[in-house]
Amino acid sequence: MPTYVRTDKCDGCKGQDKTACMYICPHDLMTLDKDGSVTGHAMKAYNQEPEQCWECYACVKICPQQAIECRHYADVVPLGAQVQPLRGTDSIMWTIKFRNGTVKRFKFPIRTTPEGSADPFGGKPDADMSDLGNPTKLFTDAMHHCDMGQFLAN
Ligand code: SF4
Ligand code: SF4
Repeated sequence: MPTYVRTDKCDGCKGQDKTACMYICPHDLMTLDKDGSVTGHAMKAYNQEPEQCWECYACVKICPQQAIECRHYADVVPLGAQVQPLRGTDSIMWTIKFRNGTVKRFKFPIRTTPEGSADPFGGKPDADMSDLGNPTKLFTDAMHHCDMGQFLAN
């Protein structure tokens, strides 16, 4: 169920060095065909190794042009059907198109704090980088700390 790029919608992220889909893909699969020599479509992105795709949908959600789609397994989403997300700052809208043409939309909240305001440490003290090599020191979990210490001691 890898991704494919709709060349009629992709604008190559307006020629930026790193496109949004390249930035977000955890497996480094999306790439931009700048001169069209690979795909025949200049300044359009493509998935360079579809069989390696994790199907994580990150590129589908981040694409500002809604140009990326996932091809779904036919037994889950029959041919002709379509699932497309549209991300907002506080919610995401999923548009489901059924094979018979019926369209349904589902909107879900995706965060409770304003965009850009996430606090990665959540009131906990900053990480002590010198603890990185210590297998008994975990960042948040005192219980794990004890269990792990016990485990290693035995
Ligand atoms: S994020 Fe979307 S518009 Fe930008 S290069 Fe990728 S497919 Fe094209
Ligand atoms: S679905 Fe995930 S793994 Fe596949 S190309 Fe998009 S970001 Fe990469």
